[in-house]
Amino acid sequence: MPRIVQLSSEVITRISAGEVIERPASVVKELVENSVDAGATRIDIEIDQGGVERIAVYDDGCGIEPDELPLALASHATSKLRDADDLFRVGTFGFRGEALASVGGVAHVTIQSRPTTADAGAEIGTRGGQLSPLRPWNGAPGTRIEVKHLFFNTPVRRKFLKATGTEFGHVSEAVTRLALAYPSLHFTLKHNGKLVHDLPATPTLPDRLQLFFGPEVRNTLFEVTREQGTLRLHGYIADPVLDRGNARLQYLFLNGRWFRDRGLSHAIQEGFRGLLMTGRYAVAFLFIEMPPDHVDVNVHPTKAEVRFRDPSSLFHLVLSAIRSRLNEANLVPRLQPPSSAEFGIRNSELQNASSAEFGIRNSELQNASSAEFGIRNSELQNDVLPPPEYVAATFAAERREESPEFRIPNSEFRIGSTQERALQIHDSYLVLETSEGMLVIDQHALHERILFEQFKKRLSVGPMERQRLLIPEPVDLTPEQAGRVLEARAELAELGLEVEDFGGGTVLVQSYPTLLNRLTPVAILREAVDFLGSQDRVPPREVLLNDLMSTMACKAAVKAGDRLTPEQIAALLEQRHLARDAHHCPHGRPTSLMFSRKELDRQFGRI
Ligand code: ADP
Ligand code: MG
Repeated sequence: MPRIVQLSSEVITRISAGEVIERPASVVKELVENSVDAGATRIDIEIDQGGVERIAVYDDGCGIEPDELPLALASHATSKLRDADDLFRVGTFGFRGEALASVGGVAHVTIQSRPTTADAGAEIGTRGGQLSPLRPWNGAPGTRIEVKHLFFNTPVRRKFLKATGTEFGHVSEAVTRLALAYPSLHFTLKHNGKLVHDLPATPTLPDRLQLFFGPEVRNTLFEVTREQGTLRLHGYIADPVLDRGNARLQYLFLNGRWFRDRGLSHAIQEGFRGLLMTGRYAVAFLFIEMPPDHVDVNVHPTKAEVRFRDPSSLFHLVLSAIRSRLNEANLVPRLQPPSSAEFGIRNSELQNASSAEFGIRNSELQNASSAEFGIRNSELQNDVLPPPEYVAATFAAERREESPEFRIPNSEFRIGSTQERALQIHDSYLVLETSEGMLVIDQHALHERILFEQFKKRLSVGPMERQRLLIPEPVDLTPEQAGRVLEARAELAELGLEVEDFGGGTVLVQSYPTLLNRLTPVAILREAVDFLGSQDRVPPREVLLNDLMSTMACKAAVKAGDRLTPEQIAALLEQRHLARDAHHCPHGRPTSLMFSRKELDRQFGRI
């Protein structure tokens, strides 16, 4: 029978390190949090090789007394918690006193620190938990911590690390979360000696948001504030036109600390209900403040998740704050999708309208494009110059300026060869008379399916046709996103989207798939980025291509709410016969519903 033995402290440290320190980004998070706790106003972060080789964090915080340096590296040693009751009142990031000990257990660590109040400081080191003797050190007040050779003594962990770019991406995301939580602190981040972020103290959050996400996001922000009892919500949501393919741009902070919460993510999406297409996500930065004893932050090793005493009132606070802000912005009536209850059509409507009544509005050019669904700006670099109105169409913002007085009567017409009649209703559905009965087609789902099939067919005979850009277009991504994109470079190239690393999170788009001419190369890349970002790792080629194709098809397809020209409707319906499975969109939703003549007769009591 195996004997029970007490584990050595070295083993215990390594086990707990395994929980807290998963990858370089976890180290960066712990070190920077300590600097914030120490009251630093400036924090400089240096990363080499994704952080696997070296991580250094310099701060101008309160510093550590020389005689306490060995304690800082000891397990369960902290200056932030005194007794168990404090656990429910913590206002600082730290409190377990485990981070530095854990890092020290799996890396080479040097700490140099000088308290603000002292004339001199000291330096201490550890290699996998073995402390070096304390030495005097005479740097500026503050703390400098250098972590080298992470996981040198845990080869399995080391093997699990991803490509440098991916690891740095995680680091950058960790820094982003902290920098958004503390706009008044100056952060810098360097990778391999190159400055990636220089974020001077900004007076407001939107200024900092702009530094990370560009003016595009900043200029469409709506401020939300709401208070309820001791709960306080403050933050910003972006106009739904800035929707994303994943929830990564939904940042939640609780009492100054980033966290994730499925319930609240759901509340955000719910707040945007009716303004986003299925599978699209809102952009939101929300800060929640509540008394520390209303929440247990001690349920997750890295405190990424918390447990609320009253999750449902928080849910409603977030939901109602977003909802009423969007209502105020008057976005709701503009974009609300037609409700299926209004679906009745009278037979006479199908017969009376003549194709002569087919008014086409100029503004429709902004919603839909030519019969082939569009020609884009970069085609100007082609020999063929598109007619100017198409260019205007594609440059026009995606925002739909639908106002009631512009509405034209829906019309009916006959499609040349197929002898089908079609009527567009609610700018979303096509109603068709066929020999068997009445077919209702979801215009977006059908177009999406057709594009998807086209991509697949094209890809089966070789890489997609590409249009090279005369001048490669730079796209600014987060280093994490850039890392992912570059990892998936070969697959993207097969799809006709060629990208090149420009360094510092910038990627150059060199070509785009000709078939996707309704989207700008940048939009195509953003779609790919969103999809890759929603995956834990770069998936196998087949999966990746399939998913990218369906994502691109979805984005490139006409939308519900797009008024279509007769030519577009005809083109769409004609191509319907080319698609192999025209009855389902690539996501599996039906593209059409059939109401048979017999069924109609029966419903109206004719038989
Ligand atoms: P915790 O943050 O949970 O207290 P850590 O292991 O992260 O535990 O740090 C241990 C202690 O070391 C902290 O409580 C703090 O007193 C001290 N310390 C760590 N980093 C710094 C820093 N950058 N500036 C000042 N003190 C620090
Ligand atoms: Mg800490």
